[in-house]
Amino acid sequence: MNELEYYKMMLDGTPCGLCHVALDEKLTILYANQSYYQLYGYTAENAEAQGFTNAKFILPEDDYQSIMDTVQGHIRRKDRYFQLEFRAIHSSGKLMWLLVRCAYDPDRPGSLLCALFDIADRKQMEDQLRMSMQESKIAFQLTDKMMYIYEPASRRLKQPKSAADEFGLPPVMDDVPYSVIRSGAIDEACVNDYVAFYESIIRGEKSGHSVVRKRRRDGSFGWYEAKYTSIFDEYGAVKRAVISCEDITEQREKELSYQKWSNYFKAREGKTFGVYEYNLTKDLYDDTKGDVKPDCLRSQKTYTGTVRYIAENFVYEHDLEKFNKFFERDSLLGRYYHGQTTGVLDYRRKCIDGARVGTDGVDDIGWVGGGGIIWVRAVLLLLADPYSSDVRLFMMTLDIDQEKRTELKVRSRMEHDGMTGLLNRETFIARVSRILKNSTPPKRHALIMLDIDEFKKHNDQYGHPYGDQVIRETARFIKGFLRKTDLCGRMGGDEFMVFLNDISSEEEMIPRIDMFCQILKHPDGENGEITCSLGVVFYPRDGRTFQELYQKADTALYDVKRTGRGNYRIYSPDLKRKGEEEPGAF
Ligand code: GH3
Ligand code: MG
Repeated sequence: MNELEYYKMMLDGTPCGLCHVALDEKLTILYANQSYYQLYGYTAENAEAQGFTNAKFILPEDDYQSIMDTVQGHIRRKDRYFQLEFRAIHSSGKLMWLLVRCAYDPDRPGSLLCALFDIADRKQMEDQLRMSMQESKIAFQLTDKMMYIYEPASRRLKQPKSAADEFGLPPVMDDVPYSVIRSGAIDEACVNDYVAFYESIIRGEKSGHSVVRKRRRDGSFGWYEAKYTSIFDEYGAVKRAVISCEDITEQREKELSYQKWSNYFKAREGKTFGVYEYNLTKDLYDDTKGDVKPDCLRSQKTYTGTVRYIAENFVYEHDLEKFNKFFERDSLLGRYYHGQTTGVLDYRRKCIDGARVGTDGVDDIGWVGGGGIIWVRAVLLLLADPYSSDVRLFMMTLDIDQEKRTELKVRSRMEHDGMTGLLNRETFIARVSRILKNSTPPKRHALIMLDIDEFKKHNDQYGHPYGDQVIRETARFIKGFLRKTDLCGRMGGDEFMVFLNDISSEEEMIPRIDMFCQILKHPDGENGEITCSLGVVFYPRDGRTFQELYQKADTALYDVKRTGRGNYRIYSPDLKRKGEEEPGAF
């Protein structure tokens, strides 16, 4: 074996395609080793028979010219070494990617030495990478997230143009986070969090997260959530971090108010019967939040079912109507969409277990205390769910029995006459005026002005305390005559007023008033008698306002006093008013 054959033996054994080609039209193969032919699916022995005597044979027709141009370019520049990637046709017909490294000796201008490597794997990887990068780019575009790249070694941040524009910053910034802070884009309260986020990347953490309030170029503020994932080199050092950033202002604001109210409600827990949460939109009870429901309510899974159950079992019947109206689901949703997010309702509950029994009752203002009935306050709040557009309802029921009783007592004292327990003048006028305002014919009412006859005499004869006693007794007689819906007030001194609410007709009232007049008559001292005089007017016949009716009742009363007392007079226009001269008196 001569030296050349010896070298050929070595070349044939090399696991890399090697060839020596002529720089002619077809790149004629002057020599190629076994691996060269194997690369394309041939053997040195069968290649020639199939026409594989030049490199053009394995090059796709479309690529051939550009490959030749590239090679010629290097030759012209007398590059001694160069490489190119190209596609070749395998004997199976498939296309394959190859890398060829060429050695050119200008002293031998007619040929090239080539070493070839199969780079299919690398090409495939590159393809996959390109595709996955494209996919992530698309994925990012599909979300509202922005992607930033941070290089901790240089503290350089690359941000998309849209994000940079939003904050009036350049797309590439050095000395981040500090340069961004200096620009004023970070809300002062969040500076520490912002620095900590980047410091953790620099420290080499794998991933991290932060929520920061940023100032936009237009001066407005927004909440932004950033997450990063670090990419490490083969020595474990952080090369870069990919940061995704999202504007979460709307969600954050919802979350904060949700938190705030949730805490507010929780803080009052001790004084409540319960704090519950409902999804009003979906009409569902949320059993993951709030208190554990009492056993009796546990079977109720919906908001409406729960409200109905409470109404049927706990609410005092006089408050049922307002309770149902207040808690009606559609009207609550309507209120929410009109911007009304809170509501308070005081109502009376029946205390089923009898554990709480009230003691005081002030029944003449329609309040029934005692008998296991207590006052509660329902406080509710309507809030948007931070993660959906559903409306959530927080509901808290507070025990306000003691304070409500005290409040009602105070109010009652302010509205009532201390001596008789009847309404005082102001309250009587206000209540009657309100009823009159809300009345329209054919509704009818009667107003009676009532004054004790010759009261001064009784006072003088038996003393002031006796006079007081007469006033109290008269009040008691009046009360005994009234229906629940009627009103009665002490207007001052020995003068009272009675309002008969919603009467059937004037005529039918006359015998009743006559009877009333008789009831009021009662013995006085040893052989005297207490009597009252009554002036009667009707709505709407004699007037529509309190003022009008009052004046006419006064005229009617004056007429009774003038003509003998102890009787009643229905107003008529021909009655003489106080101070009017008798016709023909002179
Ligand atoms: P008439 O039949 O015309 O009504 O005669 P009268 O004596 O009842 O006259 P008038 O209604 O004007 O007198 C009311 C008197 O009632 C005047 C006042 O001294 C007395 N009085 C007013 N308030 C009180 C009170 O709270 N207690 C007592 N005991 N007397 C009162
Ligand atoms: Mg009097």
